[in-house]
Amino acid sequence: MTKKRRTNFPTSTINKLAKRAAFHCSKCKISTLSAAELDNEEYSHTGQAAHIIAASPKGPRAEANAIPIKLSSIENGIYLCQICAKHVDDNRGIDFPPERLQQIKNEHEKLTRTCIIPMSPERFAQIVGANTSKTTPEKPDLALRFIYPESPALVLINQSPVVAKNIKWAVALWNMDLPERNDPLPIPVSTFDFIRANQEGGPQNLFGLPTVKPLLKRGDRLFGSASVCSPDCIQGRTYIVYIVWGKSGWFAEVREEKSGNILIPPNFLKASRDLYFKTLESMISIDSRIPIGTAR
Ligand SMILES: [Zn+2]
Repeated sequence: MTKKRRTNFPTSTINKLAKRAAFHCSKCKISTLSAAELDNEEYSHTGQAAHIIAASPKGPRAEANAIPIKLSSIENGIYLCQICAKHVDDNRGIDFPPERLQQIKNEHEKLTRTCIIPMSPERFAQIVGANTSKTTPEKPDLALRFIYPESPALVLINQSPVVAKNIKWAVALWNMDLPERNDPLPIPVSTFDFIRANQEGGPQNLFGLPTVKPLLKRGDRLFGSASVCSPDCIQGRTYIVYIVWGKSGWFAEVREEKSGNILIPPNFLKASRDLYFKTLESMISIDSRIPIGTAR
């Protein structure tokens, strides 16, 4: 009779390890529990309790005189997904000595006490992009929105699942009721450090500057363009903006413009500006104009 010298974990220990790991792989952080696809009542569980010191004398990280009771104890287990369980045993476990696995286990169990288990982007891409390995990485996608009709402010929107960094926005508005003034309102081109995935930044006050405020009185018509982009965004976005100061206004995206630049007249002289206003007016149909809203 051959004696199998393999010391497996009791089921109760496996369950405890899985629960202590919050059913996430201690190494790559993938969830090992999911709803079964073809059964409305069942679930799929792909986690494993792996041995830190091998379960058999010739296994990875084996110890010559290991005591069976120690090998099957919870201290000798680490909860992993199938891929990581295999990975840590490759090359007889040479890349993952017991101390390293113990550290991975301890850090992961510590993490389960928080509400977030972060997964590396590489592993995430591997899982999500499993069938679409040639998809390009997501890029930031930025948009603008104007709020507060009486004194409009700007909200920056990151409508992508990745963080947007070094965001640049610009607003060039002319006061149509100051015909002698050639230049747009001196609203500086501004930057915003970063906006997290699917979050908004702002509102950015546009008209509060001491150089801007004196140029405005209630009922003045402001007309021009705004834009937003970042160095690695999928495309820039450009808008036409019309404001009746102190009352209301609208904005609309110029869909065909993807450079992230603002639209400005070739020169700022009155004739050129007037033609510019006419052109802007004709570019956006009335039903695509979004009224500047009150809500954040
Ligand atoms: Zn894993």
